[in-house]
Amino acid sequence: MEDIHISPETVGEAGVENEVLVVPEALDEIFRNKDLVVKEPFTVHYVVEREKDSEDIHVGVDVQGEIETFCARCLETMTYPVDLHLETSYMPASPEMSKNLEEERTSSATGYYRKTIRLGDYIASELVLALPLRFICDEQCKGLCPECGANLNREECRCGGKPVDPRLQKLSELKEKIRKE
Ligand SMILES: [Zn+2]
Ligand SMILES: [Zn+2]
Repeated sequence: MEDIHISPETVGEAGVENEVLVVPEALDEIFRNKDLVVKEPFTVHYVVEREKDSEDIHVGVDVQGEIETFCARCLETMTYPVDLHLETSYMPASPEMSKNLEEERTSSATGYYRKTIRLGDYIASELVLALPLRFICDEQCKGLCPECGANLNREECRCGGKPVDPRLQKLSELKEKIRKE
């Protein structure tokens, strides 16, 4: 995605609109997580507009695609749809800013540019931030029985799923203690 660049000079009153495909290999580079598999290219659609009589550039981005992964509760494979909308503005960088202007960002809403806007870098970092920490196949997913490992979405579990009675647990701990003393 590094190659999605915009030259603000070329953005006139009418703005610029474009759509690019990002190949799975490039997305693997961004996610750096072998549990996330991308099979089809992602679509990145963006609209660039110049604010009237200004050097500020506004960009709207839509990213769409699918990630194959597995549910953190039931461990079944699942498809996670990516449908991300981003809005950001770019202002001319001041001379004392570093070469890596993405690092100069203080919020996702405002970035900086010199000759070109490195839109791909911004999209890549926002994409990573937008991913959930844990992928869940369904909010209602019941997960696996912690006792016998049965998938509780599909079957009644073999052990009855009853957690050990805390009072019995205490009693057995006590017995254990007595035996040791
Ligand atoms: Zn699940
Ligand atoms: Zn069970």
